[in-house]
Amino acid sequence: MPEHARLEDKLSFRLEEFGLRGMDENFIYLSQKAMELNSPPLVFLEELVDCESLSREESRENRWFKLGRFPARKTLEEFDFSYQPSINPRQIFDLASCQFIDNKQNIIFFGPPGVGKTHLSIALGLRAIKEGYECRFLPVRELIENVKKMRHEEIIYGRRLFSSFLRPKLLILDEMDFYEMDKDASEFLFSLLQERYEKGSTIFTSNKKFHEWQSLFGDHKKAAAAVDRIAHHATIVEIDGKSYRIKDKLRDKGYLKMVKKKQIN
Ligand code: ADP
Ligand code: MG
Repeated sequence: MPEHARLEDKLSFRLEEFGLRGMDENFIYLSQKAMELNSPPLVFLEELVDCESLSREESRENRWFKLGRFPARKTLEEFDFSYQPSINPRQIFDLASCQFIDNKQNIIFFGPPGVGKTHLSIALGLRAIKEGYECRFLPVRELIENVKKMRHEEIIYGRRLFSSFLRPKLLILDEMDFYEMDKDASEFLFSLLQERYEKGSTIFTSNKKFHEWQSLFGDHKKAAAAVDRIAHHATIVEIDGKSYRIKDKLRDKGYLKMVKKKQIN
């Protein structure tokens, strides 16, 4: 083995030993580039440190993505705003600055199924993670299931569960729709929202209007109190459009019509 390759191997081993993956993956390429461009050693060193920092940032984001239990990766860049003209893209990109999290404000996405409520919530959640805010995605159905299981567990587990939903700077409560909520679950949800009030941000998605949220909280009074708090510091985004899920089908229908027309002519 030539001396140069031996040195590369040795360095790689040491960098790995120190957990410097970003440097390990890039030092050979960067050193070759530095030699070719005859660039100063400090420039090479800075680039190497940048690689390490980027790599650490990437692994933190991946770790937080897993911890946040997101059902999928969705981004704002993938979102076709032209398909949903009732959404103001500027408003969404403003929200993506995450100022609302610093201000402990909420966002509520209202709209029928398939219009992108969950997509936009996830995309904002990912932006939040990128900016260093912990985020947890929680379908309301899962919350109900968790509370049901809790009765069989020790009470300490319940507290742990509660604080795991309380701790994140951003909580996404997906699908605040109609459910068979028993008393325990609606009390859990009510206290969670009460505790998060002015302490953390929550994004809600729902295809039901505020006044229909009663079934989630058991009675009308509680629902009104919860909604009062949720809406107090909130940006409400009402999406009024066609489901994206039927986009391709609609296109197919258009295509079929066109084919029929051609056949008639
Ligand atoms: P909702 O939560 O409103 O029922 P989703 O966000 O789950 O709808 O959207 C359904 C599917 O369509 C998802 O795969 C989502 O990524 C996609 N989708 C919805 N709207 C758009 C859009 N405007 N541009 C790109 N993809 C979209
Ligand atoms: Mg959804």
